[in-house]
Amino acid sequence: MLDYYRYKNVLELFKKGRLEDAKSVLMELQAKHIALADENSILKAQVQEYEDILYIAKNLIFDGSCYWLMTGNIKQGPFCEKCYSGAGILIRLIDGRSGMRCPMCGETQKSADDVVIAHNQSAAVSGKILPFVR
Ligand SMILES: [Zn+2]
Repeated sequence: MLDYYRYKNVLELFKKGRLEDAKSVLMELQAKHIALADENSILKAQVQEYEDILYIAKNLIFDGSCYWLMTGNIKQGPFCEKCYSGAGILIRLIDGRSGMRCPMCGETQKSADDVVIAHNQSAAVSGKILPFVR
């Protein structure tokens, strides 16, 4: 709110014909505004990431073997227990010859639940990784 008076000051300087002083104060205010806008963008991205983490924490279930993410009525997964427990990341298991295999750590797991894969496997490899451990 203090900047309001500085902007008012800029207007007064222009009215008085002190153009260089007005430009100087205006440039300072612009630089401050740009820095605040950049900080705001970063904070918005952080809030979105925390919302994603909170959503996952609320909707992640463990079936005794693998993790599953509930999105509405859709059960997504299975996700690797070892990668989630160890590194805090969700890695979708892919169907291999000897069961479900993690493309990240190579762990082979069998889910106690029916395997319902909501997305194709190539999308899982390139999906967003949310770190839970910092
Ligand atoms: Zn893994």
